[in-house]
Amino acid sequence: MDTTTARWGALGGLGAMSIGAAIALRERTARRTPPEPAEGAPRIVILGAGFGGLTAARTLVERLAPGQAAITLVDRTNYHLFTPLLYQIAACGVDPWDTAQPVREIVRGDGITFRQSTVQSVDLDARTVALDTGTLPYDYLIVALGSTTNFFHESSAEQHALPLKTIPEALAIRDRVIGAFERAATLPDGDERRTLLTFVVVGGGATGTELTASLADLLYNVLPPQYPRINFAAVRLVMIESEDRPITTMAEKLGAAALDRLHAQGVEVILKTKASEIGADYVKTDKGETIKTATPIWATGVRANDIAAGLASAHNKGGTLTVDDALRLPDHREVYAIGDNAAYTRPDTHDLAPMLAWVANQQGKTAAENIAAAIAGDAPAPFHLRPLGSAVSLGRNDGAAQLGPVAMDGVLGWLAWRAIHLAKISAFRSKLGVALDWTYAYFYRRDTARLIPASDMRS
Ligand SMILES: Cc1cc2nc3c(=O)[nH]c(=O)nc-3n(C[C@H](O)[C@H](O)[C@H](O)COP(=O)(O)OP(=O)(O)OC[C@H]3O[C@@H](n4cnc5c(N)ncnc54)[C@H](O)[C@@H]3O)c2cc1C
Repeated sequence: MDTTTARWGALGGLGAMSIGAAIALRERTARRTPPEPAEGAPRIVILGAGFGGLTAARTLVERLAPGQAAITLVDRTNYHLFTPLLYQIAACGVDPWDTAQPVREIVRGDGITFRQSTVQSVDLDARTVALDTGTLPYDYLIVALGSTTNFFHESSAEQHALPLKTIPEALAIRDRVIGAFERAATLPDGDERRTLLTFVVVGGGATGTELTASLADLLYNVLPPQYPRINFAAVRLVMIESEDRPITTMAEKLGAAALDRLHAQGVEVILKTKASEIGADYVKTDKGETIKTATPIWATGVRANDIAAGLASAHNKGGTLTVDDALRLPDHREVYAIGDNAAYTRPDTHDLAPMLAWVANQQGKTAAENIAAAIAGDAPAPFHLRPLGSAVSLGRNDGAAQLGPVAMDGVLGWLAWRAIHLAKISAFRSKLGVALDWTYAYFYRRDTARLIPASDMRS
């Protein structure tokens, strides 16, 4: 470890710890235990404890008097997932539990009823939600079920590619990558070994680029000492992107910087190309090339969750629900759709709001405020999108951040990315865990212990 590395690492670690300590102070404010809701109090049901759903729940608690409404929050998992760090789980950068916060811990003392259940369907006319654990009636409903991977009707991708939307999916990628090295280490040089040592990421948007940069760090910096019999010059990492540069959602300069960084890391970036077919051991492109790989990763495309897409209401792109300016369904003003479920058209640009965490947060707040207003007999307020910045990490000491008109790359972009993500993670334990994981990984080696699926252990 050189002195510059140590200095930056120590700075990052200290910064992370200070942010964690500051948030801890805020989180430790006393929690009250509100009274039970009064008989006949309005029933507010929030579907999804992601970014939008949790913000809505917290805002309702702030805006309503204790016990004024019965608030129920439903999620199929009992944790809130911090999706921006999923790729780091896949690339052995952070531990899975540091990105998952128990929902009951987050809403503790807020008077919210949490139900870990899977939503099966919503009957908009009967005003009921069918769960796998029973039926929930509502007076107001917030649909915040997020998105799912969009394979764009490519069944071969759905069958063979590894998506990245959930913790089990991130762990599956981690397991496949490390497993490929374990298997390759037992084989002589040849086709099978070359296929195992080739990794393909389909999609060069923010997620695909971050994942690729982090995998490059893992493959070319972390793993070589552990596999002395593998020639790492033969290890291939390929990223396929349909546009002419990575992360087209950011300034052109940042896309160019990301491309330079990936090239410097040894990544083969194939631009203006789409994956047209994926098999268990290959990716075919629309340019006619076939790349043999045992690890095809799908980091492109999202669409609205199936429940939202199946609701009997007007839909827009990717199954998202059309909403009015107050985020309500046009024919059911008691139902709000937010975040990745909402097709909200900005009145100024006529663009759809992007599927991003900060959009879900802002919409969760507005939906909750409008429900509180409706309960008070007041008119709802229109939603106003306040664009925030975005940032991507490009591996060690490198990143890209776009904060309004300001575009930062290199170390500044990387520091901005770390600060933004640490500040956004909702609980102290996770902030501290992530900060420690990052600091540890900066100075030492990442944890590459292969996580063996329970099914394998039984066999
Ligand atoms: C890998 C990855 C990286 C990302 N990085 C960033 C980033 O850096 N910055 C950024 O701004 N955005 C990022 N995003 C996008 C961001 O995660 C989403 O825009 C945001 O999560 C949307 O919030 P939401 O509340 O609509 O849905 P979510 O946060 O996805 O929450 C939906 C919730 O619904 C639950 N749910 C789903 N189906 C059911 C069901 N049938 N029954 C019960 N519960 C259900 C889920 O468990 C989940 O908790 C990333 C997304 C991914 C996948």
